[in-house]
Amino acid sequence: MAEALRLMHVHAHPDDESSKGAASTARYVAEGVDVLVVTCTGGERGSILNPNMDRPDVLANITDIRRQEMDAAREILGVRQEWLGFVDSGFPEGDPLPPLPDGCFAAQPVDTAAEPLVEIVRRFRPHVVTTYDENGGYPHPDHVMCHKVTVAAFDAAGDPGRYPDSGAPWQPMKLYYHHSFHRQRFVALHEEMERRGLESPYAERLAEWKPDPEWDRRVTTKVECAEYFPVRDKALLAHATQIDPEGPWFAVPLEVHQAAWPTEDYELVRSVVESDPPETDLFAGVREWARQAVPGHEQTATLPE
Ligand SMILES: [Zn+2]
Repeated sequence: MAEALRLMHVHAHPDDESSKGAASTARYVAEGVDVLVVTCTGGERGSILNPNMDRPDVLANITDIRRQEMDAAREILGVRQEWLGFVDSGFPEGDPLPPLPDGCFAAQPVDTAAEPLVEIVRRFRPHVVTTYDENGGYPHPDHVMCHKVTVAAFDAAGDPGRYPDSGAPWQPMKLYYHHSFHRQRFVALHEEMERRGLESPYAERLAEWKPDPEWDRRVTTKVECAEYFPVRDKALLAHATQIDPEGPWFAVPLEVHQAAWPTEDYELVRSVVESDPPETDLFAGVREWARQAVPGHEQTATLPE
């Protein structure tokens, strides 16, 4: 019997796991994949983005409340979840930008911050790891740091000479970046809204958003998961301080999302198994490998260079 496939998502804050890759996650969970979400920070410096939750009693207990929200989202998605234990860096605003708060996640040396993640990789032994692109997906310092730390841990976890006190080496097989905010997707949503005679919320944004074919070409992998969009919405809403149910996230009906863009998209950036993009599955190449692997000796003989 082959052991379960394992997928590890590394995210910056509680709620990122529900806004990026949540529907493909729900699909993999339904297929029996063991999914672990690692959340780098507690989201302590996040703003309250839902007017109904913007109350002094919520603000005073934001750390606890965000943990409870994460617990609810974890249940909805059917994943395991661990905290990496760092403190939110906050989103710097102003000109000039203020310095990062002392001791926050983004102020850590990458090698130091990667250590607890290497320990988790070696313990959970994921086949596939995901994170953000080098710009963080959006320029929050914790997202950029999440990218750096995940790439560092991916590259170090299989090396017995690195972090020797953090568990037995394990080399994950594939590393992906999320690509949820590319222009093509918003064009498709916009056109589907217009086709249905609905008012698109994206007209202004698209008018200023120049096509970027080079960026679009970075998507290597489209995972069909429209059936699980309702799970994604439910998980997002569990982060009640972060999501306004009346806000732009929900301005486009579910059926429009499902019709216009039924996939979640990723960029394959590292692979130690053979895979030939375009792909429709994060485990392409891994499933074939796992079928041949001998339980208990998964990484001895069959891994290519
Ligand atoms: Zn975030």
